Amino acid sequence: MDWKVEKRTGACASCLREFAPGDEHYSAVFREGEGFLRRDYCELCWDARGKGEELSFWRTRVPHPEEKHARYVDDSVMLKLFSELHGKEEGKDVRFRFVLALMLARRKVFKMGAVGEGFVVFDEKKARRSHRVRDPSLKESEIDAVKEEVRVLFAGEA
Ligand SMILES: [Zn+2]
Repeated sequence: MDWKVEKRTGACASCLREFAPGDEHYSAVFREGEGFLRRDYCELCWDARGKGEELSFWRTRVPHPEEKHARYVDDSVMLKLFSELHGKEEGKDVRFRFVLALMLARRKVFKMGAVGEGFVVFDEKKARRSHRVRDPSLKESEIDAVKEEVRVLFAGEA
């Protein structure tokens, strides 16, 4: 699979100011051609950016070098990206959405429900609603590859 995901750059995508450890900033995921693109913004540029085209965003902080095990993004950030990919029929979106659902199930946000012909139902426990998610019938190695892309996309959180 040819995924195209860009990770944290360490600088504001707009004014190019470099972030220092401990700096708070915003990160957002955008659609970019066939894949997804992550951009980080300083607070000033984020506030000034106007209507956003992002699929999902979160506020974060640059980890200090001694923070070896940076925390992963909040469930809500993943959930937002999952929701934004709703109804998309294009192959990569379907794969990304399905793997996000698996990851959310792993985090106990979703519970895997009925399995049908070409789809799996995931129950969103807190919101008491269900999502019928297309199952792209990926091989285990393909699922791992997509998971890795999600990790890169959301990498470096503190
Ligand atoms: Zn900036």
